Amino acid sequence: MSDVKERLDRVRVPELEEILGEALPVLDDGFVRLIDYMGCDDSIVQAARVSYGKGTKTISDDRGLIRYLMRHRHTTPFEMCEVKLHVRVPMDLWRQWIRHRTANVNEYSTRYSIAIDRAKTTQPDEWRLQSDINRQGSEGGVDPETGSRLTSRETEAQALMKEVYEERLDLGVAREQARKDLPLSTYTEAYWKIDLHNLLHFLALRMDEKAQLEIREYAKTISNRIVKKWVPMAWEAFMDYRFGSIMLSSDEIEILSLIHTGQNKSADQMLLEAGFTVKDGSTVKPTLEGREFAGKLERLGLEIPWETEE
Ligand SMILES: Cc1cc2nc3c(=O)[nH]c(=O)nc-3n(C[C@H](O)[C@H](O)[C@H](O)COP(=O)(O)OP(=O)(O)OC[C@H]3O[C@@H](n4cnc5c(N)ncnc54)[C@H](O)[C@@H]3O)c2cc1C
Repeated sequence: MSDVKERLDRVRVPELEEILGEALPVLDDGFVRLIDYMGCDDSIVQAARVSYGKGTKTISDDRGLIRYLMRHRHTTPFEMCEVKLHVRVPMDLWRQWIRHRTANVNEYSTRYSIAIDRAKTTQPDEWRLQSDINRQGSEGGVDPETGSRLTSRETEAQALMKEVYEERLDLGVAREQARKDLPLSTYTEAYWKIDLHNLLHFLALRMDEKAQLEIREYAKTISNRIVKKWVPMAWEAFMDYRFGSIMLSSDEIEILSLIHTGQNKSADQMLLEAGFTVKDGSTVKPTLEGREFAGKLERLGLEIPWETEE
């Protein structure tokens, strides 16, 4: 073991040093810029073992420990790593982003400064239709002719709101009031500092297909360009035990066990009682929870049980 009083160097991750300060592009004019970072995979295991320096364990021990910590939700060692990002995000997405309360934030002030003269634009083939199943989601796209019309109307609307804003400023209206009709597509910027535990939570929610497509683009850039390179072992464990995993409730486990042992009638009964299905005349239909359970069964390569009519 090395001397407790030895002087330790600052942790450096060469792949992050390479992109430090670089604006990694997202959407048409947004970006994520890594301002600084603290720690790496080693810092997680050092914190967990309350050891220091290189420690005495091998890489496979470290990987095993990180996977154990992730699997059992021993979260504090992951809080020993932090990133500070500078982000440029349209205001509608920022409104979702800022809901993550566990970050430290400083946003560009449009009371103090003139609003950023950039708004998120939409290409004709980027307009999505409202989903019938998911009230918060989108599904498919509009036809090309409608797409072109929507984009040209967007251009007109953004130009008008920019003109109105600038006219107010020219007439001496206070910036805090002049801004009130700026579109939500206007870009804002912020410094955003967060520890790895909470960043992974943010990514789990914002990489998910239920999250809005545009915020998923930011989550993808943060994951692929920063987190994967910064803490590859923690990232692997996160993908395995959190993002790529399936959570089964005790009811779901019981239903699976009934199906597995061929007790289909009891499984049907339990699906009804637990609220996974409802009877509509002679037909049995899945509820939202039932459809989500069906998705899990599909991932497990199992058949969906309620397709048979009573
Ligand atoms: C797909 C999707 C749809 C959404 N739809 C809506 C919507 O329609 N309307 C809406 O208002 N929001 C919506 N949200 C926002 C969502 O409800 C959360 O506010 C947001 O995702 C932040 O999550 P969080 O609180 O877990 O994260 P953070 O604020 O980063 O917190 C991380 C964790 O810290 C703990 N924590 C933080 N603060 C507290 C506290 N004060 N008390 C106790 N524990 C705390 C919690 O365990 C929390 O999970 C949506 C989010 C997603 C991903």
